[in-house]
Amino acid sequence: MAFTKPSVKLGLPRMGQGSDRHTDTNELLSPGVLIAYRARPGTDYPNQATKDAVQAAAVQARNIVRIANDMLAKVVLLRRPESQLFIDTMATHFKLIAGDLAGGLLKDNIVDKPFSPKAVFVHDRRWILERIRQKMLSLSFHLNTGVYLIDQDTSTRDVFNGAPGTVGQAPYSNWVGYIHFRGTQTAGGSLCGFRNGEIHISFDHFLGYSLNTNACIIIHEAAHKFLGVKGDIYGDNPNYPPDLQNKGGSLDNADSIAWTAISLATGAVRMQNSGSTDFEQCPGPAL
Ligand SMILES: [Zn+2]
Repeated sequence: MAFTKPSVKLGLPRMGQGSDRHTDTNELLSPGVLIAYRARPGTDYPNQATKDAVQAAAVQARNIVRIANDMLAKVVLLRRPESQLFIDTMATHFKLIAGDLAGGLLKDNIVDKPFSPKAVFVHDRRWILERIRQKMLSLSFHLNTGVYLIDQDTSTRDVFNGAPGTVGQAPYSNWVGYIHFRGTQTAGGSLCGFRNGEIHISFDHFLGYSLNTNACIIIHEAAHKFLGVKGDIYGDNPNYPPDLQNKGGSLDNADSIAWTAISLATGAVRMQNSGSTDFEQCPGPAL
């Protein structure tokens, strides 16, 4: 079901600078998955394969984060033991390494530490896991409520940030997704879905990447949009993940959150090193 974007039809102002819009059409792919693109009359754009890839990735992203959130809740709230997968995932993607005090940030870092009332306010492993859990819960809420994905459309785009531009000169030509931050991010996480701009993804890239890699892109951008996470040290960066203890460290890094979710939900530590092919072809079936 495709229809003219209400904002175009009604002539509503944009949130950012400039009043020009590139995309003009909305299409509801399924309950909870709405896309936007520039219609190209007389052509088959976006074609069915592209829509199928975007739809599948959106569903995979929300299922992955829901499963990961459940696993975090079991460890943090129900005090179930951490699995080896869980321990390895936290080490690989947050640099939360059992026994390591993260440069003095933590007082102790003990897997499955027995409960003690005195430990409730201690900066320990559980304190970090709870912060990760809160992020995953908020992401799960937003992704499972519904996602709105706008085509980045690098190959034909002639409007950049609300103003006319030249095709091929988009400032994000090699990106696979982005959002625009609105205002300051000093408050950290926010439940307000209007806090930042919408999620833009490259429909073209979604045709070439695997299901889990596409889901990773959506989760990554959702972490920026809904959690206000600003860090962009990607999993293919040799310096990934950033240190846990620094401001702007792994807790504020979009890929740390995304790859943690995917690893927990798919049963294997994904994106294990900067050379991993998971960055474009992370394997795994639909969940
Ligand atoms: Zn990012």
